Order: sequence, then C-alpha cells, then structure tokens
Amino acid sequence: MKETGGQRNIDGYTRVCGLIGNPVEHTMSPAIHNTLTAALGENLVYVPFRVPEGRVREAVEGAYALNLLGVNVTVPYKSQVIPFLKEIDPLAERIGAVNTLVRTEGGFRGYNTDMPGLYRAMCRDGIRIEDGQVLILGAGGAARAVAMLLAEKGARRVVILNRTADKAEGLAEEVNRGAGRELARGLALEEHEKLPRGEAYLAIQATNVGMFPGVQDAVIEDAEFYRKIHTGYDLIFNPARTRFMSLVEENGGRAFNGLKMLLYQGIIAYELWTGARVGPELSEVAYVRMKRAMGI
Ligand code: NAP
Repeated sequence: MKETGGQRNIDGYTRVCGLIGNPVEHTMSPAIHNTLTAALGENLVYVPFRVPEGRVREAVEGAYALNLLGVNVTVPYKSQVIPFLKEIDPLAERIGAVNTLVRTEGGFRGYNTDMPGLYRAMCRDGIRIEDGQVLILGAGGAARAVAMLLAEKGARRVVILNRTADKAEGLAEEVNRGAGRELARGLALEEHEKLPRGEAYLAIQATNVGMFPGVQDAVIEDAEFYRKIHTGYDLIFNPARTRFMSLVEENGGRAFNGLKMLLYQGIIAYELWTGARVGPELSEVAYVRMKRAMGI
C-alpha cells in the first residue's frame, strides 16, 4: 500500500484488523499496528471498536462476517470472548484470557500474546526467568498469566504476594498442579517479611496500585522488601515511572515499566495476522511511535 501525504490508499483489497473493548478511546494499539503496516507496505488498517456490554458475541460474529483479518481484545472482554471462538490456543486456554483473534476457516482462533509479549520484552531487556527466584505482586488476571509464563519458562521458585491471601494461595496451587511440582507459594502482602534476607528476587508488579491517577502509591512501601529485589518489572505503563520502580532503584535494583510488554503483545499479534516477522529495528520504530502517541 502506498502512502500519499500521510493518507492511506484504501481500496477493495484493504484488510481490516481491529480492537474490541470498552472503553477503547485511549488505546495505543493503532500507533503500533499502523506503524508496522506502513513500514512493511501491507494493505491493512487497524481500527478500535467500542463494544457495549452484553454484545461481545455479536462483535465477534460480526467481525468474522465482515471478513476482518484479526481482532485484539481488551478489558473487559478477554475472558468473555472465549465461548465465541472456533479454537483456542493451549497457552491462552491455560491463562483463561484471550487478547488476539486470528481468522481461520469457519471462525476465529484465540491467542494470548500478553505473556509472550512480556517474555519478549524481558529477553530484550536482558532479564532471565529460567532458574530464577521470582516474586509476583498481585493475583488478578495479569498475575495469573505471569505465573503461567514463569512455570512454562522454568523459574526455580515463585512467591505470589496478594492483598487477598486466598487468591494468592489458590493461584499458587493451580500453578503447582499444572507444573507437577511445588513451584509456587501464595502469601498475603504483609507476609513479605517472611522472605529470607540475603535472597535476591526478580519482582513482577502485577497489581493496579500506582497506576494513573494514583501515581504516589506502591503496593509495598517497606525498604527492607526492596533490598531483596535485584530487578523490578512493573506491568503498569502509565505513568512510565511508577513509585514501585523508584523504590526498586532507590534500594539498588534495576527497574522496568510495562511499555515494552504493551509493544510486543501488539507485535506478536501482528505477526500472527500477517505472517510477517518484525525484527528489532522495526520494533524500535514502533516503540518510539507508540511513546510519541502517549506523549512520553
Ligand atoms: P485485576 O485482574 O483487576 O487484578 C488486580 C490486582 O491488583 C489484584 O491482585 C488486586 O488484589 C490488586 N489490587 C488492586 N487494588 C489494590 C490495592 N489497593 N492494594 C493492594 N492490591 C490491590 O487486574 P489485571 O488485569 O490483572 O491488571 C493488573 C495490572 O497489570 C494493571 O495495572 C494493568 O495495567 C497491568 N497490565 C499491563 C499490561 C501491559 O501490556 N503492560 C497488560 C495487562 C495488564 P485483590 O486480589 O486483593 O483484589
């Protein structure tokens, strides 16, 4: 597809991909996908669609009927879309959430690219999960997916810390059942004091705490906790530097935000839709565009 003065030439061959969610107005996905499309010369456009509550089935069936090539799914529909898919990828099934639909014969196949996205982001940042000791803060949807990733990639030990201890314990049991070994353990947040001194952890922050507008908050404040963290990975990307990240750095660790995870979940979805392989250089171009669209 040619670009003329920033204007796309939409024609009868133009393929459409999109995002369904509610709300969708603040999404950064168009900046990612439309950058990739322009750079790779694909005849494709990416459009957000706000879907009202209770109309997910119509949205999925309608997208298929309208010949959409692929669809991203965001809050609150990542689990709700599952009954309306033709097939589901085993990883997405284990996680229980789908964020990418890929067109196949007779219906969409659902994938979860959030976790492979986080993994690719971590690899690019030089962070190793394999054989590591990892803390997860939170036991919600994102934490659950992180826990599955850690099990799959061979973490040595996982501790899940959550405000609601039952949810941390339940998630740990589920991870252990899936992994077939005593990999994970769940604790209440305040039980972080039980973590032995002198141990060094990768900590993945998967709660909502610290997200805009509550930017002054971190889920744990105690400096003693942060001294046990060699690397802190916050899944939050707004703000780009969270209080959790500041606390990690103030106590001698390295800290990262969730922007690259956001980027790579989009890139992996794009690769699934088009069969293209997006290399590091183009990923960097899309990263810069995405940050510009966010005003950072
Ligand atoms: P979720 O399912 O609603 O889970 C929220 C988690 O935060 C729960 O563990 C909850 O604890 C905890 N929490 C909420 N408020 C708290 C408070 N005041 N004090 C202590 N804990 C609190 O949400 P989610 O979908 O997992 O999303 C979590 C985060 O991940 C969000 O910030 C989201 O932006 C981020 N995320 C980023 C990406 C990316 O691409 N970078 C992708 C997905 C998600 P309880 O169980 O006790 O309620």
